[in-house]
Amino acid sequence: MAVTARERKLLLDGDWVETGEWHEVRSPFSGEVVGRVARAGADETRRAVDAAARAMAEPLPAHARAGILDRTADLVADRQEDIARTISDEAGKPIKTARVEAERAASTFRAAAAEARTLAGDVVPMDASPAGTGKVAYTARLPIGVVGAISPFNFPFNLVAHKVAPALAAGCAVVLKPASQTPLSALLLAELESGAGLPAGWLNVLVGRASEIGDVLVEDERVRLISFTGSAEVGWKLRERAARKKVLLELGNATPVIVEADAELEDAAAKAAANAFSFAGQSCISIQRVYVARAAYEQFVARFLPKVEALSLGDPTDDGTDVGPVIDEDAKERILAWIDEAKGQGATVLTGGEPNEDGLIKPTVLADVTPDMKISCLEVFGPLCTVSPYDSLEEAFELANGTEYGLQAGIFTASVKTALAAASALEFGGVLVNEAPTFRADQMPYGGVKASGNTKEGPHYSVREMTEERLVVVSR
Ligand code: NAP
Repeated sequence: MAVTARERKLLLDGDWVETGEWHEVRSPFSGEVVGRVARAGADETRRAVDAAARAMAEPLPAHARAGILDRTADLVADRQEDIARTISDEAGKPIKTARVEAERAASTFRAAAAEARTLAGDVVPMDASPAGTGKVAYTARLPIGVVGAISPFNFPFNLVAHKVAPALAAGCAVVLKPASQTPLSALLLAELESGAGLPAGWLNVLVGRASEIGDVLVEDERVRLISFTGSAEVGWKLRERAARKKVLLELGNATPVIVEADAELEDAAAKAAANAFSFAGQSCISIQRVYVARAAYEQFVARFLPKVEALSLGDPTDDGTDVGPVIDEDAKERILAWIDEAKGQGATVLTGGEPNEDGLIKPTVLADVTPDMKISCLEVFGPLCTVSPYDSLEEAFELANGTEYGLQAGIFTASVKTALAAASALEFGGVLVNEAPTFRADQMPYGGVKASGNTKEGPHYSVREMTEERLVVVSR
């Protein structure tokens, strides 16, 4: 379907500004230009930090912040179809998946509004020790300072919401740098924030050369916190360079799921097929590795493969499409090279393994894989998953943990005892039982361990990260 190209300026100190340079946004499916956006550099980034710092000098009371967040949620709900189309056009995300993202974003804003209304400190029981006798003390939660937010291409609206909404709830102004491939969704969100009554300077959006914008965010001391979602490679380097700031990292995964012999195999196979290939596997918790108890392996594969082969591959703007393109040619070439390498090392292609006639990578399932293959231990970020049998639960845990990543993992089993053993043995930030590890509701504490990150996102948790506790002691 043809798209109408959108032209967007940048939001800087409440004004929509041009910079004299433009950045083109192209559909990953058709290659068509779907928008052009004013391109920013170091200069605009410094002006954005100035504007954010000025905004914070006149704090907004909690009721005003909550009201703006609630009104944004209403606008997001009203504009759901427009948001979904923008996401789909620039990210190549199937429209039905993009609609889910748009719907979830409204709940992210509502959860953040609730946090703004209830954010409070603690009363300290001072008479609990002789030293505190005669004193009253409490803690207050104060905004940490200007937040630098850097977001990835794969959830271009809701992951921006997960940075902007809690920051505003906490009372922090934001300088946002969305992914260059998907800036239109972020700028649409900024338009809705302005429409909801957010005053100038509280949200500034810059699109442009990542290193130039990133360098200013790292170097300017007024940016007290950087919230980064993206690849481990970029994220950990950013944290090293910003030693005196708080740097919150939400990074990748090589998501495993274990299927025990006592599991409901039909349910496990359906959830695995849907969640290994949704958005062509470009979710940080897309199922990448399926480990099945040997006694159930053949039965599971017999149920799983037809469901994978039934997925509809094609134009992301079509309502019926389940799987669309990956984000660009480089990603496509890398994924196909990893498949070829695995085949050369002995892997068997059960389905897919090549592009279709339109050049889209077919949903791919590989068997006979070993733990050291790239497709087993690194993040594929493409429409690919592996299936492997195991002989004992301990072996399954070891295989699942055999990656530097640790975001979410899953297990399908009828046994509570096995589920609890998995919850303690799997080294991941979240363990999902009888649900795909791709599941996320926006109020959940969501985040990884090991190379996958160092924080939890979800408005309740992010607001705490974005505020500092101040102790107040009063002597009677
Ligand atoms: P990416 O290449 O790391 O980019 C993420 C963001 O970082 C983009 O805005 C990018 O800008 C920016 N960036 C790149 N180099 C930078 C630098 N030197 N300084 C400052 N910013 C810089 O990741 P992606 O390909 O967009 O996203 C995919 C990755 O995100 C996957 O690894 C996925 O698992 C992860 N992810 C994690 C979560 C989570 O919640 N844990 C959620 C979604 C995605 P440009 O676009 O301009 O290069």
